[in-house]
Amino acid sequence: MNTTGSISTDVLVIGGGIAGAGAAYELSADLGVVLVEAESTLAYHTTGRSAALFAESYGPQPIRALTAAGRDFIMSPPEGLADFPLLEPLPGLFVTDDDNAPCLDELAEAIEDLVDDVRRVEGDELAEITGILAPHLTHGLIDGSSLALDVAGLHQVFVKGARRRGTRIETSAPVTSLRREGGRWVVTAGDLTVDAEVVVNAAGAWGDRIAEMAGVTPVGLTPLRRTAFVVKRPPELEDVALPVIVDGGHPETWYVKPEPGLLLCSPADETPSEPCDARPEEIDVALGIERVNHNTTLGIRHVVRAWAGLRTFAPDRLPVVGFDPTTEGFMWLVGQGGYGIQSSPGMSRLCAALVNHREVPEDLAALGLDAAAISPARFRRGAEAVSDP
Ligand SMILES: Cc1cc2nc3c(=O)[nH]c(=O)nc-3n(C[C@H](O)[C@H](O)[C@H](O)COP(=O)(O)OP(=O)(O)OC[C@H]3O[C@@H](n4cnc5c(N)ncnc54)[C@H](O)[C@@H]3O)c2cc1C
Repeated sequence: MNTTGSISTDVLVIGGGIAGAGAAYELSADLGVVLVEAESTLAYHTTGRSAALFAESYGPQPIRALTAAGRDFIMSPPEGLADFPLLEPLPGLFVTDDDNAPCLDELAEAIEDLVDDVRRVEGDELAEITGILAPHLTHGLIDGSSLALDVAGLHQVFVKGARRRGTRIETSAPVTSLRREGGRWVVTAGDLTVDAEVVVNAAGAWGDRIAEMAGVTPVGLTPLRRTAFVVKRPPELEDVALPVIVDGGHPETWYVKPEPGLLLCSPADETPSEPCDARPEEIDVALGIERVNHNTTLGIRHVVRAWAGLRTFAPDRLPVVGFDPTTEGFMWLVGQGGYGIQSSPGMSRLCAALVNHREVPEDLAALGLDAAAISPARFRRGAEAVSDP
């Protein structure tokens, strides 16, 4: 919907991907919320392009805690918001050669408190689990608790739930200016003017652009392009219950995820990019084919479909969630990198707690989430405290 006119609200959420939709859902429990999205459809950018994995073993510590805190929500979404399961069991198998085997020990240690169902597999047992690994991959770690996630389903849960709680959602409403007036934000979004006490910057790859428009110093976000493609699942693997197979070395260089009738593959590439409508480059698809063929016996030659999306990282690769300490009412919700879907329920609750000036939710604190480690304040040491630009 593209509306003209002026609206006054408590919170303006900028961005209709999973981060913005999740934040709108949680915030609208207590506050008036308007969400504006630049595109004509929600979830058009990174949210619509993910590999749809949910694994507490995936990502840095704060992401693991935020992910674990969202498992119950995704397992059983609030009544009436999803008529179908959003998660299906999909064990994760991290694999390495001899040189990278210590990476699996580090991973096992890092996740032992979060994941119950973890075990190491070696040699012949590993080879038998999938039947498709190349012989140089002799070390494995199975995360039996990881899941395949219905991303569109989860996004719709947030959107439906937010609307039911009164959130107004405006598409084709790109934010082009933000200014402070009388202690509130006045924001131009398409043909609409919104005045709000708080803005939530959930603009993904464009997060620093929104900050610049608001006169807030950027945090140094880098969008990194990642390529994915699907190939037909070979007939002999049609009835094999494959796990998602992930390179367990540092850095990760490939993964293969089973989907109905298909295999989703990626070279786990990270090419710096401007914020844009990312497209797959032929060279990255070729690299993916080469890496998957080197590490498996799949012998891929044809790709059914390829796409790319921007995974956006802060300089320390941790998310950025919290009020900017230098500017009144400017909340950051960016830098989700490659984990923004799985961490979205936890991150949305954290964002809502911070906007409402409440403590970090107890379950998140109990999982070891250190809110200071992901606050934008870490980029503002030495800067002056809150000001009204
Ligand atoms: C190939 C690939 C695989 C991935 N696999 C996984 C996975 O398995 N599990 C997982 O958890 N994560 C995965 N991710 C990461 C995940 O997709 C992202 O972390 C997540 O989608 C980020 O969501 P977002 O809402 O922050 O960004 P986006 O979905 O990009 O949303 C930001 C929105 O802000 C809007 N916007 C920007 N500027 C403005 C403006 N001026 N005015 C209004 N709106 C604006 C944009 O149009 C966009 O819709 C993957 C990503 C890729 C690319």
